[in-house]
Amino acid sequence: MSEALLPDSNGFDEEAFRREARAFLDWIASYLSRVEEFPVRSTVTPGALRAALPAQAPEDSEPVSALIEDLEKLILPGITHWQSPNFFAYFPANTSTPSLMGDLVSSAFGVQGMLWITSPACTELETHMLDWLAGLCGLPARFLSSGAGGGVLQDSASSAVLCALLAARERASAGRCNEEGCRGDLVVYGSTQTHSSLDKAVMVAGLGRRQLRKIEVDAEFAMSPAALRAQIAADRAAGLTPCMVCVTLGTTSTLAFDPLPELGALCRAEGIWLHVDAALAGSAAVCPEYRSLLTGLDFADSYCFNPHKWLLTNFDCSCLYVADRNALIGALSITPEYLRNSISDAGAALDYRDWQIPLGRRFRALKLWFVLRRFGAEGLRSYIRGHVALTARFAEHLAQDARFEIVAPVHLNLVCFRLRDSNERNAALLEALNASGRIYLSHTVLDGRYVLRFCVGQPQTSTRHIDEAWALIAATAATLDP
Ligand SMILES: *Cc1c(COP(=O)(O)O)cnc(C)c1O
Repeated sequence: MSEALLPDSNGFDEEAFRREARAFLDWIASYLSRVEEFPVRSTVTPGALRAALPAQAPEDSEPVSALIEDLEKLILPGITHWQSPNFFAYFPANTSTPSLMGDLVSSAFGVQGMLWITSPACTELETHMLDWLAGLCGLPARFLSSGAGGGVLQDSASSAVLCALLAARERASAGRCNEEGCRGDLVVYGSTQTHSSLDKAVMVAGLGRRQLRKIEVDAEFAMSPAALRAQIAADRAAGLTPCMVCVTLGTTSTLAFDPLPELGALCRAEGIWLHVDAALAGSAAVCPEYRSLLTGLDFADSYCFNPHKWLLTNFDCSCLYVADRNALIGALSITPEYLRNSISDAGAALDYRDWQIPLGRRFRALKLWFVLRRFGAEGLRSYIRGHVALTARFAEHLAQDARFEIVAPVHLNLVCFRLRDSNERNAALLEALNASGRIYLSHTVLDGRYVLRFCVGQPQTSTRHIDEAWALIAATAATLDP
């Protein structure tokens, strides 16, 4: 071996580490500065990478140079470039220098933050960052750790809604589900536009998908309070027990906002756990002018948003807040003898293992800490505002071309649009755009109509990219076969 990878009798080889780390950081710097040059959506065919890799793991140590060569040669072609300024598909997955560095330091510590005692800083920085973010976003005081509530980092909004549902399930069954298994009478409510992670949570929690009610939406794709009220009444009349309502602020298809004040008041009156999912849109609340999007959040028992989507913090980093942390802990806590310790026994600190599904957990709060300090609240606000302005610019381009229509209200950083033409031609337009490699968009279907989604959310995206994307879309639409 050319370098001492494992400590020997001389201990950790600091110089060897510096050389190796520098080589990879240089490569990352070069990648991020070239990211615009690559086809945004990967053009490889299934199996291409596997075919290029050796069948067996290497017997002997390989040099760093071989790894970097293969990053270029083998991996880059198979990357869809989420950090490209021309990535407009799905919702964004941001990264940034401070975030990257936070993750690197986290990896260096290599800690398991399952208990306070297994790395006090991991737990306390996390509690503190969640409180910071609550302040920054103007969240209700009931989600602060100083009261009965608090926040925790989950890997994803999917885990967050599952944890919320497990807490709601215990509450609705007077704490008996964990002991006796799930009753068949618990019902969960979302809308037809709710993210599929709610379906999955209902499956995993053992409630059964038959017990998930998909409430109808209005013309702007927001959940109808009247329809929810009627469904709850019908379920109660049938002897069923409403367990949880999932309200979405910024749906995945169109960024529609369910009417939280009305829905929240209904949940409060009915005594039903209210989970609010603002996976993408929640980040916008760092700007005071968008706080009103969260009006009614006082009603929520749990709230989730993903800094890993639109707040410059790389995946995974999803914030889950609860108003009553004991409801969550009561649903998820289990203590084998080998995890017992005096701090936990005395209840003197939080143990985040009791706030999530797995036992082990990474030191994710570091990247948030770095992001919040390096950008500052003002930096994050101007970042969000910049994307909202670019999105408005794209919508203006569209509005001036009669061939196109905008099919849902434009909120924040998403435009849903289509050619005034058949679904087939819209699908052909999307495929032609994505096959060009120059931009990447995704689609949805609304009321049976095929719709293109254009979401602005990458740090490198600027006016030029918006104008070029529009020019490409307008030109491509003109070349489609009749
Ligand atoms: C993206 C999204 C999710 C899922 O997020 P993950 O963190 O990937 O699980 C859930 N809800 C909404 C509204 C989303 O947009």
